[in-house]
This record gives sequence, C-alpha cells and structure tokens, in this order.
Amino acid sequence: MQEIKDTIKFIQEVYKTKDLIPLHAPHFGGNEKKYLLETIDSTFVSSVGPFVDRFENHMASLTSTKKAVAVVNGTAGIQVALKLVGVKHGDEVITQALTFVATTNAIKYNGANPVFIDVDLDTMGLSPQAVEQFLLENAELRENGCYNKKTGNKISACIAMHTFGFPVHLDELKKVCDKWNIPLIEDAAEALGSYYKNKHVGTHGEISVFSFNGNKIVTSGGGGALVTNNIDLGNRAKHVTNTAKVPHPYEYVHDELGYNFRMPNINAALACAQLEQLTSFLNNKRELALAYKSFFNAIGINFRTEQEHTKANYWLMCVELNDKKERDLFLKETNDQKVMTRPIWQLMFKLPMYENCIRDEQKNAIYLEQRSVNIPSSVRIK
Ligand SMILES: *Cc1c(COP(=O)(O)O)cnc(C)c1O
Repeated sequence: MQEIKDTIKFIQEVYKTKDLIPLHAPHFGGNEKKYLLETIDSTFVSSVGPFVDRFENHMASLTSTKKAVAVVNGTAGIQVALKLVGVKHGDEVITQALTFVATTNAIKYNGANPVFIDVDLDTMGLSPQAVEQFLLENAELRENGCYNKKTGNKISACIAMHTFGFPVHLDELKKVCDKWNIPLIEDAAEALGSYYKNKHVGTHGEISVFSFNGNKIVTSGGGGALVTNNIDLGNRAKHVTNTAKVPHPYEYVHDELGYNFRMPNINAALACAQLEQLTSFLNNKRELALAYKSFFNAIGINFRTEQEHTKANYWLMCVELNDKKERDLFLKETNDQKVMTRPIWQLMFKLPMYENCIRDEQKNAIYLEQRSVNIPSSVRIK
C-alpha cells in the first residue's frame, strides 16, 4: 500500500532518522540529574523525603485537587483507590475491556470481579449509555448501594479509563453513577495534562489515579499518584499506602492492614524534574498531532483527534485503518522499517483470567481493537 510507504517516510522525516523510532521514549531535558544528585547527597533516597512532598503538592495544584498521594506505581494506586471507595471481596466493578491489563488486575487484587461494558467510538472510553443500559437491565438500588439482581453481588465501583489521554464523557458517566449510587474512579494513568470542559481529568470521580511509568507522558522511572477532592479519602490513601503507620516518635504502631506502596524520594525527584517540563511536552506533542492530522487527512487514513469540550494530552497518537487486514499490513510494514507501531491491547475478556467475566456485546471495543494502531508519539527534540 502506497499510503503505508508514505507514512513510514513521513514519520522518518518527523523524527529525522531511519534508525529505530520508538513508540514513546522519555525525554530528560530539565533538572533530572540535579534533583537525583540532590537526593543521593542528602541520603534520603527511600520512602520519605522532600521531593515526595513537592511532587504531591505539584500534582494537587496541577489537577486543582485537595490532596495528592504519591505511590509506587499506577497499578497499586488503582488497587488502593478501589479499596478506599469500598470495593470488597465478591463485589462487581464496572469497567471497560478496552484497557491495559492493570485496570482489571487491580479489581481482581481486591477479590472483586470486573464487569466489562462497551466503550464509545468517539472517546474509546467507557460508554455512559452502555453502562446505563446494563444497569437498567441487571441492577437494582438497595438501601446500601447498587446490586446485580442476577448474581446478587454488590456493584461497588465503576472505573473508567481515558484511553491514550482522550477523556471519556465524564459528565454523563458521573450522572449515571450518581443515579445508581456507584462511586466513580478514573484511571487517568495515560491522561496527565488532559482536560474535560477546562477541568483536569481525574477530578470528576471520587478518587483518580495517574501513572509515571517510563512510557507515560512524564516519568518517575516507576510511580503513580492518587488525587481526590475528598480530604478524608486522601488522608486514608496516604495512611494505607504507608503501611498504616500511626505517627509516633519511636513506637511501631500500625492500626490496620496497610501496604508498602510509597513512592521513593529518588523517584519523586525524577518526577518533579519531569513535571516542570509538562507544558512544553504537551505543546510539543500537540504540534506533532497537528502535523500528523494534516498528513493523514491528505492520504485518507483516519487520525484520532480530541473531542469538542476536551483537551487531550496526545500521549499516544492513534490511527484507524479500514479493517483488520489493513491494520495487520500497516503493523508489519512499519515495524519492518523500524518505525515502531503497536495494536491496541487485546480486549480483557480474551485473556484467560478474565474470559468468564460478565460483559455486554462489546461492539465498539471489538471494532476499535481490529482497526486501531498507535504510532510514534515521543516528544521531538528540536
Ligand atoms: C500505565 C497504565 C496503568 C498502570 O500504571 P503503572 O504505573 O505501570 O502500574 C494503569 N492503567 C492504564 C490504562 C495504563 O496505561
């Protein structure tokens, strides 16, 4: 296909190389080395230190939330977020099958079971209409929450994921969740710097999670952050991710089963240096998205852009081919030429540990899975 050859050439020109072009490489162009050396010189490399506090303050201010808590990675953050909104063993949690496996694993770590509801084609994220339809057909409201009439289990949370940094329909989803008395959590792991109606994503649910893994828009090596406007929930998050240790000058008192999910200060140092560059990364990626958009429009390949009323961070850029055959050809030819491209994740109900989970028809998720491809999206060095 000529379009694929043209695409390879265009991406090689964009990144000015014919060597391997990664999907998303981190960019260290600020105070990274300085802050890392500071932590080593101070000896505070581990789970407490000034960079942890600074990172938490930066995250709270960036998202305009009342409390941010640094954690060891995004997955652990989701696990704790679910626990804190009340997810218990045997419960059901509504989520999307089109996601990275971490979202679903975090549900299972709490002993709960995912219920896979379809995504919207326009956002690639959890569909408020599909959630509402599932609840109308399957759920009933009782005094202490929402229950699945057919299984008898409590539906104790709903977790939506902002795919590749494109926000889901948050207002509509929140409305459905409120109506059915189900706490909403946002898996905003991919969406740092994305906005929905001028509010940062991750601020619409009860509590939300960001990831700072090496492939995300900014990285701490590995790491995550919880954010919430509910101070009590935020304080609880800090407590349970810090081994549930009760402050005391010297005694070891732990008042519940806590986790060692703290972000080390050395990782927080890296995160702080990276966050200082977020605005420039966002601008740089938006510029790239515009260049991709006009290129792909001209050759007739569908390039995904942000929805009205939203601002996407363009973490991973995404094209949609006409069918699976074309997708497979695109993947093969680009990767053969060292232009790294990747399909979307295999839908969760295809994985052995989730194949028996409750799910709806998944029409849109299947459609997107067969056609979507991520293309190189790293910040370009000028
Ligand atoms: C990256 C990611 C996570 C998990 O983050 P880690 O920090 O790698 O544990 C969770 N959900 C989604 C959708 C992600 O992309």
